Amino acid sequence: MQVLKFGGSSLANADKYQAVKNIVLAQHASQPAAVVLSAPQGVTNNLVAIVKAAIAGDNTSALYTQLETTFTSIAQDLAAQYANYNKAHLESVIAEKLAFLKARIEGISLLGQCPDAINAQIICLGEFVSVELFAELCKANGTNAIVINPVELILAHGAPLNSLADIEVSRATFAKQSFPENTVLVMPGFCAGNENGELVTLGRNGSDYSAAILAACLNASVCEIWTDVDGVYNADPRRVYEAQLLEQLSYQEAMELSYFGASVLHPKTIGPIAQYSIPCRIKNTLNPSAPGTLITDESIDTEHVVKGISTLDNITMINVAGPGMKGMVGMASRIFDAISRAHVSVLMITQSSSEYSISFCIYTEDEDKARSILNDEFELELTNKLLEPIEFRSDLSVISIVGDGMRQTKGIAARFFSSLSQTNVNIVAIAQGSSERSISAVIEGSKSQDAIKVIHQNFFSNLHVVDAFIIGCGTVGKALISQIEKQQSFLQERNISLQVYGLANSRQLALAENGIKLNEWQAALEDAKQAFSLERLKTFVEENHLINPVIIDCTSNETIADMYVDFLQAGFHVVTPNKKANTSTMAYYHELREAAKENKRRFLYETNVGAGLPVIDTLQNLLHAGDELTGFQGILSGSLSYIFGKLDEGMSLADATTIARDNGFTEPDPRDDLSGMDVARKLLIMAREAGMDMELDDIDVESVLPASFNAEGSIDEFMANLPNANAYYEKLASDAKAEGKVLRYVGLIENGKCKCSIEAVGADHPLFAIKDGENALALQSVYYNPIPLVIRGYGAGADVTAAGCFTDLMRTVSWKREV
Ligand code: ADP
Ligand code: ASP
Ligand code: MG
Repeated sequence: MQVLKFGGSSLANADKYQAVKNIVLAQHASQPAAVVLSAPQGVTNNLVAIVKAAIAGDNTSALYTQLETTFTSIAQDLAAQYANYNKAHLESVIAEKLAFLKARIEGISLLGQCPDAINAQIICLGEFVSVELFAELCKANGTNAIVINPVELILAHGAPLNSLADIEVSRATFAKQSFPENTVLVMPGFCAGNENGELVTLGRNGSDYSAAILAACLNASVCEIWTDVDGVYNADPRRVYEAQLLEQLSYQEAMELSYFGASVLHPKTIGPIAQYSIPCRIKNTLNPSAPGTLITDESIDTEHVVKGISTLDNITMINVAGPGMKGMVGMASRIFDAISRAHVSVLMITQSSSEYSISFCIYTEDEDKARSILNDEFELELTNKLLEPIEFRSDLSVISIVGDGMRQTKGIAARFFSSLSQTNVNIVAIAQGSSERSISAVIEGSKSQDAIKVIHQNFFSNLHVVDAFIIGCGTVGKALISQIEKQQSFLQERNISLQVYGLANSRQLALAENGIKLNEWQAALEDAKQAFSLERLKTFVEENHLINPVIIDCTSNETIADMYVDFLQAGFHVVTPNKKANTSTMAYYHELREAAKENKRRFLYETNVGAGLPVIDTLQNLLHAGDELTGFQGILSGSLSYIFGKLDEGMSLADATTIARDNGFTEPDPRDDLSGMDVARKLLIMAREAGMDMELDDIDVESVLPASFNAEGSIDEFMANLPNANAYYEKLASDAKAEGKVLRYVGLIENGKCKCSIEAVGADHPLFAIKDGENALALQSVYYNPIPLVIRGYGAGADVTAAGCFTDLMRTVSWKREV
């Protein structure tokens, strides 16, 4: 004998009943089948809604009509396909059930309440219609089928809406039955009978449990649960797009997964089948040839220690605390006795070791019942202030990881909690199953989707994601976009998914849920209707559950730089070649770092100094190793390196600047370079990085332009005026040359002071050979003394700067592994 259960999702309409019939008859041909059916899809919810509306005195006619339509349309459609379908029988069953329902609704509306026993009779009405629809369908196809009644055959105890089967007694009852040969047994799921022979239900989604009970009672060789997915996945496939199908699970794993929210299987299902070692298979009605998931007493998968993740949403945590708790015997039992009297099930319990408080979780729908019973139970203690007012915290979720192998493996909990921290969620409480087969955390409900996504990534896929938002599509921005586009296959090989979800310039913000197509980014930006706003970005990230959002600021804009703290607080990492933030006030400098730390986000600015050269990283590594920067000297500007190199060759300042500008080596406004301010900013960043408290004003800056030079006007006017500075440089350069020296624009940190100035250096000076856009940075430190650590290389240009930003972007991925 085999037991096959079909859920509401497999029974939505006449076609689906046909598909179920095909599966059942095919299997029945090789081994007798007993079938457990749910109500057609939506029916139980509809009945629950009718009861609720009737209690509230609301009109139920629309819901009633909907129910009637569901039943009659399936019956009519099936009858239309088979001349021998017993339509009259179905009509009478449906009429009888609806009449029963109508009478009950009237009573409930009058009373304004519904006893649980009546409620049970109403909400499982759909199952009784479902089995008749199906049995007649089998008969119309020439196979005998009879409906068996669980109210007579299965004994259950407990609350009328959530009873537990007595397997031994039920087995004995079944043993006395003789069922006709060659006949499909069809049993309505979800219900059973109590000691008085009254109908009770087994809890919502209880038909899976019915199937397990029937399998135990019939000594079935297998219990198959047919649903609308290919089996049990390692996370709810509706919530995690990349969820993977599990071939096999142990009974315990399946139980914990379903207990903690994997709705594909009711948690009570496992008890009876595990007791009799009946294998259980989860199969897909829409894809019958797929093997499904096998649940047995073995745990076979050795690859994954954690088998799956599940979540329970709409959870309330109750906290009973107060000075009266300490050492008071029997508090826990009073709390849980009261809760159980209210028929509220407790999902998870945690107690602080101080015994000062007991916290536990229930479904939010039970909150009112729990509140009133607890306040009654502890009225005396509450009035005497032995207990603090009982706290109810709602809008929570429980997120759990489950796997047999977790017992022997260290570090699982650490990985779980670091995943939660990566999602920036607040952990309200934690619990570990005593079997060490599961770990659960209570978190804010609004974060559960993000958390499950990150945990899934960290445990099951090596995929690392970077969700990029680029502000500023000028030279660096453009180069970065093109590098990201080119590197896609390289990234894929390394399991990195780097998508650009947003692009902004000074006027527009383009956002795309599936990522912006990088070969058409200009069009995307042109079509964009909205202006840049952090609020909009935040909503976008929340709506699309992006978990590693990074803003890359490729502007040199001060207003954007002033927003970095807000970006970090909103959960974005910030990557930037823009020096404005790091050279703003010292107060803002600290604020940025605090915001990054508090929000566990990274603020990365390697390209602030030396473009793509590893300057900041090297300096930070030295300092982390306990070294100290004692002095610094360098050529920090690619454009000035280029311009001063040209002066060596006898070129005029104006010509050298024009060529540098044409090659994209200068800032958009070359005065930013020639004023010396760009170098001053870099020097300030180096100094601050080395721990010096300093403002931009504290730096002694000599302009490249002679003091008498008028640098006013537009960029074009300035460039036109620039030849007026040529003579000054001709003189400086020829004086230097006379001494065998060249001119260099040097940034210097010495004795706690910073200075940028034009220097004439001889052939023995380390900066003598630095030209053509090259940068050189000589770091003098306690360890690197007297010979400094020198970093030298190409330090300007959009491509190297973009490459540096790219490296920073990748650092947000390694950060994931670190937290
Ligand atoms: P039925 O009506 O057949 O009883 P359910 O809706 O009760 O179907 O259960 C099937 C659903 O369970 C799937 O559609 C899926 O969205 C959900 N589900 C939740 N967690 C999981 C999981 N870990 N694996 C598979 N399905 C899951
Ligand atoms: N029809 C019932 C419910 O929706 C039982 C089930 O389908 O498992 O809760
Ligand atoms: Mg179900």
